[in-house]
Amino acid sequence: MSASLPITPDVLTVPRKETVTRPNLIGLTRERLRDALIEAGTSEKQVKMRAGQVWQWLYQKGVRDFDEMTNLAKPYRALLAENFEITRPDVVTRQISSDGTRKYLLRIAGGHEVEAVYIPEEDRGTLCISSQVGCTLTCSFCHTGTQKLVRNLTPAEIVGQILVARDDLDEWALAPGDKRLVSNIVLMGMGEPLYNTDNVRDAMKIAMDNEGISLSRRRITLSTSGVVPEIARAGDEIGCMLAISFHATTDEVRDKLVPINKRWNIEALIKACHDYPRLSNSERITFEYVMLKGVNDSDADARRLVKLIAGIPAKINLIPFNPWPGAPYERSDWDRIEAFSDIVNKAGYASPVRTPRGEDIMAACGQLKSATERARKSRAQIEAEL
Ligand code: SAH
Ligand code: SF4
Repeated sequence: MSASLPITPDVLTVPRKETVTRPNLIGLTRERLRDALIEAGTSEKQVKMRAGQVWQWLYQKGVRDFDEMTNLAKPYRALLAENFEITRPDVVTRQISSDGTRKYLLRIAGGHEVEAVYIPEEDRGTLCISSQVGCTLTCSFCHTGTQKLVRNLTPAEIVGQILVARDDLDEWALAPGDKRLVSNIVLMGMGEPLYNTDNVRDAMKIAMDNEGISLSRRRITLSTSGVVPEIARAGDEIGCMLAISFHATTDEVRDKLVPINKRWNIEALIKACHDYPRLSNSERITFEYVMLKGVNDSDADARRLVKLIAGIPAKINLIPFNPWPGAPYERSDWDRIEAFSDIVNKAGYASPVRTPRGEDIMAACGQLKSATERARKSRAQIEAEL
């Protein structure tokens, strides 16, 4: 991360919201939405149709005001407004990197903050979203891991990150056939998604619903550090693509890098991958592998890696380590990354190197805590100066 790169800070300051007293319609599964509408006085006969209409307004048109739901009669809109809210996380700041990456610092109930990152590429636009405030796990190369978990995000807060990005990118007015700006979702922001599986599942069901955000399950990738008992459930109940934060080829090293390995070791993790529902050559597992100089980047590591994953339809995503202040590791040299990648490639696995994106705004993988803390600190400093 080079502080000298040009950045376009674009700071939006949002006043703190009054306490929400009415339930938020965002984040309710279709069934819960129907129940909520009935409770508010919608007749059983009409509820299916009403829920469908409301759903389309929320997730296809992105409306934030009941008055914009113009195919509903005025008294019904008033009934909804009396009983419900349509709320998203507040955008505290939005930063735009010189490479077009956008990082949103979002405030959620309780004053907590999480980050989401939008990465535009030629053929796609990927939104990296968070599943928890902080993380209970303590991977030694990850800055988020040094931040204590504050809490799990709700389905509304998870799906809300997608809505916020689509608002910002002005993506609600797309005509059918237009290129989608948020075309892919990766659950690779703050937190371990499989320690919050139910909420992640409900949010992703909304993201995949054809009458709403309508993203194919193949365009959603969930990354886990290896919560083995939850992996099959993620496949069955969400059905999205799976990425495994693998990062080491011996238990000794993985215990240090990804301490959840002490609970579920490499053997158990590999078995869960073999058993992942839907696994096929067209739906491969991505093995993420952070390149740490002198720690896990030798030729022997590369050879062990391909042996370990033999038989699993897989691709390997090499992630050059993204440094953060005080990090105990260095990024492997480029020729080392290339040599590692060559071995993996020759064994028949695609092994793209993930280009660090948004480094100038600390938006790259594993950097997400720092900016938040810096922002917090500066706010505290500002207050102290007043
Ligand atoms: N908790 C989940 C998802 C979030 S992390 C998980 O661990 O899989 C997304 C990816 O970024 C993971 O593969 C993680 O190991 C990697 N990562 C974390 N810190 C990093 C850093 N400093 N440099 C590069 N990649 C990092
Ligand atoms: Fe948590 Fe993932 Fe970071 Fe590990 S790499 S501390 S699981 S966010």
